[in-house]
Amino acid sequence: MHFVDAKGLLTGSGGHFGMNIYRGCSHGCIYCDSRSKCYQFTHPFEDIEVKQNAPELLEAALRSKRKRVMIGTGAMSDPYMHCEESLGLTRKCLEVASKYECGIAVQTKSDLVLRDIDLLEEINRKAKAVVQITLTTYDDDLCKILEPSVCNTKRRIEVLEKMHERGIPTIVWLTPICPFINDTPENITSILEECSRVGVKGVICFDMGLTLREGDREYYYAALDKHFPGLKEKYIARYGNAYEVPSPDSKALMNLFRNKCKERGMLYRPDDCFKYMYELPDRYEQLSFF
Ligand code: SF4
Repeated sequence: MHFVDAKGLLTGSGGHFGMNIYRGCSHGCIYCDSRSKCYQFTHPFEDIEVKQNAPELLEAALRSKRKRVMIGTGAMSDPYMHCEESLGLTRKCLEVASKYECGIAVQTKSDLVLRDIDLLEEINRKAKAVVQITLTTYDDDLCKILEPSVCNTKRRIEVLEKMHERGIPTIVWLTPICPFINDTPENITSILEECSRVGVKGVICFDMGLTLREGDREYYYAALDKHFPGLKEKYIARYGNAYEVPSPDSKALMNLFRNKCKERGMLYRPDDCFKYMYELPDRYEQLSFF
């Protein structure tokens, strides 16, 4: 890893911002879009760039905001990857968010987020905290192949359960669904049933498929060669160099997904999930000290 002093931290406008404290990621997911060439990494993806001044930048940005805001983190790299354990920058940023009573939506695959459960609970009391966890496969052996360097699905479901017990709302990202790997009705059903059991508020799934582009595709294909011999050739024959790589059963699986979520009372339209996630209830606005 290497350290930089970043010039800015928040992206976006209005009442909702994004924040990435780290660049690159050590979780090793075989399908990771963030390693695509278009993001112009000038260092190896696993050589994490650490924005060491992130808490100070966040504090400066929040001090100048007239209204409280929601901040999402984890879209491009996991805020709870291994180095966070010793660096604690995500935690420091949460402390700043709590101080300024701003809302937080963290997205992760790591159980390290449990370390900050007290802080997330505090933020949720003052403003709003949403924990988003990605789940791709119910089969923990397959999980070890798809996402080799982070905790397995069983553990992530425990994280969701613990958050729910503390009143912290949760959203699940059911993505990506890799053709001929995890695109089965049994997998989707098992994940959704567990989501329902542990009180997940909504599940985000745009489509049953994945995206592949330069940089990401080569990494993914190397993993297919290693773990699923012959599957790369099947992909090449079926999808060529397409960016969108849908499951052949996409339509049926999407119907299953929507029906299951409806039946279990979970949000399933992406817009509804995002609206829920980024809305700060009025009562919090009234408490604003700005
Ligand atoms: S956790 Fe996210 S950013 Fe990290 S390797 Fe996996 S997909 Fe990529």
